[in-house]
Amino acid sequence: MVAPIPTGLTRMQHADPKDFPCDICGTTDAVEVPHVREYTGGQPIHICTRCGFVYVKARRSAAAIADEWSERIYGSGYTALLPAVRARLTFVAAFMAEQLGGLRSKRVCDIGAGEGVFLDMIRQPEYGAEVYGIEPSPRNCARMAGLGIAYFTGTIEEYEERGAPGGLFDIAVIAWTMENCQSPRAMLAAAHRMLKPGGHVVVATGSRILVPFKKPLHYYLGGRYLGNRPADDHAFRWSAQTLQAQLAVAHFTVQHANRYIDHDTLCMIASPRDPREKIPWTGDDYRAVQHFFERWHAETNAYYPESVGDAAPRVVQAV
Ligand SMILES: [Zn+2]
Repeated sequence: MVAPIPTGLTRMQHADPKDFPCDICGTTDAVEVPHVREYTGGQPIHICTRCGFVYVKARRSAAAIADEWSERIYGSGYTALLPAVRARLTFVAAFMAEQLGGLRSKRVCDIGAGEGVFLDMIRQPEYGAEVYGIEPSPRNCARMAGLGIAYFTGTIEEYEERGAPGGLFDIAVIAWTMENCQSPRAMLAAAHRMLKPGGHVVVATGSRILVPFKKPLHYYLGGRYLGNRPADDHAFRWSAQTLQAQLAVAHFTVQHANRYIDHDTLCMIASPRDPREKIPWTGDDYRAVQHFFERWHAETNAYYPESVGDAAPRVVQAV
Protein backbone atom coordinates (compact mmCIF):
# COMPACT_ATOMS: atom_id res chain seq x y z
CA MET A 1 0.00 0.00 0.00
CA VAL A 2 1.53 3.28 -1.11
CA ALA A 3 0.54 6.43 0.75
CA PRO A 4 -0.49 9.47 -1.32
CA ILE A 5 2.40 11.80 -2.06
CA PRO A 6 1.37 15.42 -1.63
CA THR A 7 4.09 17.46 -3.37
CA GLY A 8 6.57 17.18 -6.20
CA LEU A 9 9.81 17.03 -4.26
CA THR A 10 8.45 14.57 -1.73
CA ARG A 11 7.08 12.49 -4.55
CA MET A 12 10.43 12.52 -6.36
CA GLN A 13 12.20 11.22 -3.27
CA HIS A 14 9.52 8.63 -2.76
CA ALA A 15 9.81 7.43 -6.36
CA ASP A 16 13.49 6.63 -5.74
CA PRO A 17 15.18 8.33 -8.70
CA LYS A 18 18.16 6.64 -10.31
CA ASP A 19 21.19 8.20 -11.99
CA PHE A 20 21.33 7.90 -15.78
CA PRO A 21 24.29 8.37 -18.15
CA CYS A 22 24.22 10.91 -21.00
CA ASP A 23 21.32 10.06 -23.31
CA ILE A 24 23.37 10.82 -26.43
CA CYS A 25 26.91 9.49 -25.92
CA GLY A 26 26.33 7.17 -22.95
CA THR A 27 29.10 8.46 -20.68
CA THR A 28 28.62 9.55 -17.08
CA ASP A 29 31.27 12.32 -17.04
CA ALA A 30 29.50 15.61 -16.53
CA VAL A 31 29.70 19.01 -14.84
CA GLU A 32 26.83 20.92 -13.30
CA VAL A 33 25.18 23.80 -15.16
CA PRO A 34 26.69 26.87 -13.44
CA HIS A 35 24.44 28.38 -10.73
CA VAL A 36 21.72 25.86 -11.53
CA ARG A 37 20.89 25.06 -7.91
CA GLU A 38 19.99 28.70 -7.27
CA TYR A 39 17.11 28.29 -9.73
CA THR A 40 15.94 24.76 -9.02
CA GLY A 41 15.73 24.63 -5.26
CA GLY A 42 19.08 22.82 -4.99
CA GLN A 43 18.60 20.23 -7.74
CA PRO A 44 21.49 19.72 -10.19
CA ILE A 45 21.26 19.71 -13.97
CA HIS A 46 24.34 18.42 -15.80
CA ILE A 47 26.35 19.10 -18.96
CA CYS A 48 28.00 16.04 -20.52
CA THR A 49 31.72 16.74 -20.87
CA ARG A 50 32.01 14.55 -23.94
CA CYS A 51 29.10 15.79 -26.09
CA GLY A 52 27.80 18.93 -24.34
CA PHE A 53 24.29 17.58 -23.78
CA VAL A 54 22.31 19.24 -20.95
CA TYR A 55 20.39 16.67 -18.93
CA VAL A 56 19.12 15.76 -15.47
CA LYS A 57 20.98 12.72 -14.17
CA ALA A 58 18.62 11.67 -11.39
CA ARG A 59 15.24 10.62 -12.76
CA ARG A 60 12.14 8.82 -11.55
CA SER A 61 10.41 6.11 -13.57
CA ALA A 62 8.78 6.96 -16.91
CA ALA A 63 5.37 6.35 -15.34
CA ALA A 64 6.11 8.62 -12.35
CA ILE A 65 7.19 11.49 -14.63
CA ALA A 66 4.17 10.99 -16.88
CA ASP A 67 1.94 10.96 -13.80
CA GLU A 68 3.51 14.21 -12.63
CA TRP A 69 2.48 15.86 -15.90
CA SER A 70 -0.93 14.22 -16.03
CA GLU A 71 -2.06 14.88 -12.51
CA ARG A 72 -0.09 17.82 -11.17
CA ILE A 73 1.04 20.04 -14.03
CA TYR A 74 -2.00 19.80 -16.30
CA GLY A 75 -4.11 20.06 -13.18
CA SER A 76 -2.39 23.22 -11.93
CA GLY A 77 -3.24 25.69 -14.66
CA TYR A 78 -1.04 24.56 -17.54
CA THR A 79 -3.00 23.99 -20.73
CA ALA A 80 -2.10 23.71 -24.40
CA LEU A 81 -5.04 26.03 -25.06
CA LEU A 82 -2.91 29.00 -23.92
CA PRO A 83 -2.42 31.38 -26.88
CA ALA A 84 1.40 31.07 -26.72
CA VAL A 85 1.19 27.27 -26.82
CA ARG A 86 -1.32 27.32 -29.68
CA ALA A 87 0.95 29.73 -31.55
CA ARG A 88 3.96 27.43 -31.40
CA LEU A 89 1.85 24.43 -32.43
CA THR A 90 0.47 26.47 -35.35
CA PHE A 91 4.05 27.08 -36.43
CA VAL A 92 4.94 23.37 -36.26
CA ALA A 93 1.84 22.42 -38.30
CA ALA A 94 2.72 24.94 -41.01
CA PHE A 95 6.41 23.96 -41.05
CA MET A 96 5.60 20.25 -41.30
CA ALA A 97 3.10 20.76 -44.09
CA GLU A 98 5.48 23.01 -46.02
CA GLN A 99 8.46 20.67 -45.76
CA LEU A 100 6.60 17.39 -46.31
CA GLY A 101 4.42 18.41 -49.24
CA GLY A 102 1.21 18.76 -47.25
CA LEU A 103 -0.48 16.52 -44.68
CA ARG A 104 -3.64 15.54 -46.53
CA SER A 105 -4.69 11.94 -45.80
CA LYS A 106 -1.37 11.28 -44.04
CA ARG A 107 -1.55 9.30 -40.81
CA VAL A 108 -0.04 11.40 -38.02
CA CYS A 109 0.66 10.18 -34.47
CA ASP A 110 1.26 12.78 -31.76
CA ILE A 111 3.38 11.22 -28.98
CA GLY A 112 2.40 13.15 -25.86
CA ALA A 113 -0.72 14.54 -27.50
CA GLY A 114 -1.85 16.49 -24.42
CA GLU A 115 -5.38 17.78 -24.89
CA GLY A 116 -5.34 17.00 -28.62
CA VAL A 117 -4.90 20.64 -29.61
CA PHE A 118 -2.28 19.94 -32.26
CA LEU A 119 -4.13 16.95 -33.70
CA ASP A 120 -7.37 18.92 -33.86
CA MET A 121 -5.51 21.64 -35.75
CA ILE A 122 -4.06 19.37 -38.44
CA ARG A 123 -7.22 17.32 -39.04
CA GLN A 124 -9.12 20.48 -40.08
CA PRO A 125 -9.84 20.91 -43.84
CA GLU A 126 -6.81 23.21 -44.26
CA TYR A 127 -4.46 20.24 -43.60
CA GLY A 128 -6.69 17.15 -43.75
CA ALA A 129 -4.46 14.75 -41.76
CA GLU A 130 -5.72 11.48 -40.20
CA VAL A 131 -4.77 11.75 -36.55
CA TYR A 132 -4.00 9.58 -33.51
CA GLY A 133 -2.78 10.56 -30.04
CA ILE A 134 -0.71 8.78 -27.38
CA GLU A 135 -1.19 10.50 -24.03
CA PRO A 136 -0.82 9.35 -20.41
CA SER A 137 -3.36 11.72 -18.87
CA PRO A 138 -6.89 10.23 -18.66
CA ARG A 139 -8.28 13.76 -18.37
CA ASN A 140 -6.57 14.83 -21.59
CA CYS A 141 -7.70 11.62 -23.32
CA ALA A 142 -11.28 12.34 -22.28
CA ARG A 143 -10.98 15.67 -24.05
CA MET A 144 -9.65 13.95 -27.18
CA ALA A 145 -12.55 11.51 -27.00
CA GLY A 146 -14.93 14.48 -26.90
CA LEU A 147 -13.30 15.81 -30.06
CA GLY A 148 -13.62 12.43 -31.77
CA ILE A 149 -9.85 11.90 -31.95
CA ALA A 150 -8.52 8.32 -31.75
CA TYR A 151 -6.08 7.85 -28.88
CA PHE A 152 -4.20 5.50 -26.55
CA THR A 153 -4.15 6.28 -22.83
CA GLY A 154 -0.67 5.65 -21.42
CA THR A 155 3.03 6.36 -21.81
CA ILE A 156 4.90 5.50 -25.00
CA GLU A 157 6.39 2.54 -23.11
CA GLU A 158 2.91 1.26 -22.24
CA TYR A 159 1.75 1.84 -25.83
CA GLU A 160 4.49 -0.50 -27.08
CA GLU A 161 3.82 -3.05 -24.34
CA ARG A 162 0.23 -3.21 -25.62
CA GLY A 163 1.44 -4.04 -29.11
CA ALA A 164 1.39 -0.53 -30.62
CA PRO A 165 -2.37 -0.58 -31.38
CA GLY A 166 -2.31 2.55 -33.54
CA GLY A 167 -0.59 0.75 -36.41
CA LEU A 168 1.84 2.44 -38.79
CA PHE A 169 2.07 6.17 -39.47
CA ASP A 170 3.45 8.54 -42.09
CA ILE A 171 4.53 11.05 -39.44
CA ALA A 172 5.34 10.78 -35.72
CA VAL A 173 5.24 14.16 -33.94
CA ILE A 174 7.06 14.78 -30.65
CA ALA A 175 6.33 18.40 -29.80
CA TRP A 176 7.40 19.77 -26.40
CA THR A 177 7.26 16.21 -25.08
CA MET A 178 10.73 14.68 -25.39
CA GLU A 179 11.95 17.13 -22.70
CA ASN A 180 9.44 15.63 -20.31
CA CYS A 181 9.91 11.90 -20.75
CA GLN A 182 12.36 9.63 -18.96
CA SER A 183 14.30 8.48 -22.02
CA PRO A 184 14.53 10.33 -25.36
CA ARG A 185 16.20 7.23 -26.83
CA ALA A 186 13.23 5.05 -25.88
CA MET A 187 10.76 7.61 -27.23
CA LEU A 188 12.60 7.95 -30.55
CA ALA A 189 12.99 4.16 -30.82
CA ALA A 190 9.22 3.85 -30.51
CA ALA A 191 8.78 6.55 -33.16
CA HIS A 192 11.19 4.64 -35.43
CA ARG A 193 9.14 1.46 -35.08
CA MET A 194 5.78 3.12 -35.80
CA LEU A 195 6.77 4.73 -39.11
CA LYS A 196 5.85 3.43 -42.55
CA PRO A 197 8.68 3.24 -45.10
CA GLY A 198 9.39 6.82 -46.21
CA GLY A 199 7.90 8.21 -42.99
CA HIS A 200 9.22 11.07 -40.86
CA VAL A 201 9.62 12.05 -37.24
CA VAL A 202 9.06 15.70 -36.29
CA VAL A 203 10.66 16.93 -33.06
CA ALA A 204 9.89 20.42 -31.73
CA THR A 205 11.33 21.95 -28.58
CA GLY A 206 11.87 25.31 -26.98
CA SER A 207 15.31 24.39 -25.60
CA ARG A 208 17.68 26.11 -28.05
CA ILE A 209 20.91 25.81 -26.02
CA LEU A 210 23.64 28.14 -27.38
CA VAL A 211 21.09 30.41 -29.12
CA PRO A 212 21.07 33.96 -27.69
CA PHE A 213 18.59 33.94 -24.81
CA LYS A 214 15.41 35.96 -25.10
CA LYS A 215 14.09 35.42 -21.60
CA PRO A 216 15.61 35.51 -18.11
CA LEU A 217 17.15 32.32 -16.80
CA HIS A 218 14.61 31.89 -14.02
CA TYR A 219 11.89 31.51 -16.67
CA TYR A 220 13.96 28.77 -18.30
CA LEU A 221 15.20 26.80 -15.30
CA GLY A 222 12.90 27.85 -12.49
CA GLY A 223 9.50 26.81 -13.70
CA ARG A 224 7.76 30.09 -14.35
CA TYR A 225 4.25 28.72 -13.99
CA LEU A 226 4.96 25.95 -11.54
CA GLY A 227 7.33 27.25 -8.92
CA ASN A 228 9.79 24.84 -7.42
CA ARG A 229 9.19 21.54 -9.19
CA PRO A 230 11.24 18.35 -9.63
CA ALA A 231 14.05 18.90 -12.14
CA ASP A 232 13.22 15.66 -13.95
CA ASP A 233 9.85 17.11 -15.02
CA HIS A 234 11.98 18.69 -17.72
CA ALA A 235 15.08 16.52 -17.89
CA PHE A 236 16.57 17.41 -21.31
CA ARG A 237 17.58 20.58 -23.11
CA TRP A 238 18.93 20.47 -26.65
CA SER A 239 20.91 22.70 -28.97
CA ALA A 240 20.58 22.22 -32.71
CA GLN A 241 23.77 20.12 -32.59
CA THR A 242 22.71 17.90 -29.72
CA LEU A 243 19.21 17.41 -31.14
CA GLN A 244 20.78 16.27 -34.41
CA ALA A 245 23.00 13.98 -32.31
CA GLN A 246 20.02 12.65 -30.33
CA LEU A 247 18.28 11.80 -33.60
CA ALA A 248 21.47 10.27 -35.06
CA VAL A 249 21.96 7.83 -32.17
CA ALA A 250 18.29 6.85 -32.57
CA HIS A 251 18.92 6.11 -36.28
CA PHE A 252 17.35 9.19 -37.83
CA THR A 253 18.93 11.62 -40.30
CA VAL A 254 17.76 15.24 -40.20
CA GLN A 255 16.14 16.37 -43.45
CA HIS A 256 14.80 19.79 -42.45
CA ALA A 257 15.42 22.27 -39.61
CA ASN A 258 13.68 25.59 -39.04
CA ARG A 259 15.36 29.00 -38.63
CA TYR A 260 15.73 28.40 -34.89
CA ILE A 261 18.24 31.23 -34.48
CA ASP A 262 15.49 33.83 -34.90
CA HIS A 263 12.56 31.82 -33.61
CA ASP A 264 11.65 30.53 -30.15
CA THR A 265 11.18 26.99 -31.46
CA LEU A 266 13.72 24.45 -32.63
CA CYS A 267 12.02 22.02 -35.03
CA MET A 268 13.69 19.17 -36.91
CA ILE A 269 12.19 16.70 -39.37
CA ALA A 270 14.13 13.46 -39.76
CA SER A 271 13.97 10.19 -41.68
CA PRO A 272 14.50 6.75 -40.15
CA ARG A 273 17.56 4.82 -41.28
CA ASP A 274 18.66 1.22 -40.94
CA PRO A 275 19.82 0.76 -37.31
CA ARG A 276 23.05 -0.84 -38.58
CA GLU A 277 24.01 2.41 -40.27
CA LYS A 278 26.22 4.77 -38.26
CA ILE A 279 25.08 8.38 -38.64
CA PRO A 280 27.72 11.04 -37.91
CA TRP A 281 27.14 13.67 -35.22
CA THR A 282 29.30 16.14 -33.32
CA GLY A 283 27.46 17.55 -30.28
CA ASP A 284 28.69 20.67 -28.46
CA ASP A 285 31.84 21.69 -26.58
CA TYR A 286 30.72 21.54 -22.94
CA ARG A 287 32.83 24.60 -22.09
CA ALA A 288 30.80 26.67 -24.58
CA VAL A 289 27.62 25.42 -22.89
CA GLN A 290 29.03 26.30 -19.46
CA HIS A 291 29.89 29.78 -20.71
CA PHE A 292 26.42 30.16 -22.24
CA PHE A 293 24.81 29.57 -18.84
CA GLU A 294 27.37 31.77 -17.04
CA ARG A 295 26.46 34.69 -19.29
CA TRP A 296 22.74 34.02 -19.04
CA HIS A 297 22.98 33.97 -15.25
CA ALA A 298 25.01 37.20 -15.17
CA GLU A 299 22.55 39.03 -17.41
CA THR A 300 19.53 37.71 -15.54
CA ASN A 301 21.15 38.80 -12.30
CA ALA A 302 21.79 42.27 -13.72
CA TYR A 303 18.20 42.79 -14.87
CA TYR A 304 16.31 40.78 -12.25
CA PRO A 305 18.49 40.87 -9.13
CA GLU A 306 15.53 39.95 -6.93
CA SER A 307 14.77 36.80 -8.92
CA VAL A 308 17.91 34.76 -8.40
CA GLY A 309 19.83 33.55 -5.41
CA ASP A 310 18.31 31.85 -2.41
CA ALA A 311 14.94 33.56 -2.90
CA ALA A 312 14.49 32.23 -6.46
CA PRO A 313 11.52 29.91 -6.00
CA ARG A 314 9.52 32.41 -3.97
CA VAL A 315 10.17 35.35 -6.32
CA VAL A 316 9.70 33.30 -9.47
CA GLN A 317 6.09 32.74 -8.54
CA ALA A 318 5.60 36.50 -8.28
CA VAL A 319 7.02 37.25 -11.76
ZN1 LIG B 1 27.19 12.95 -23.85
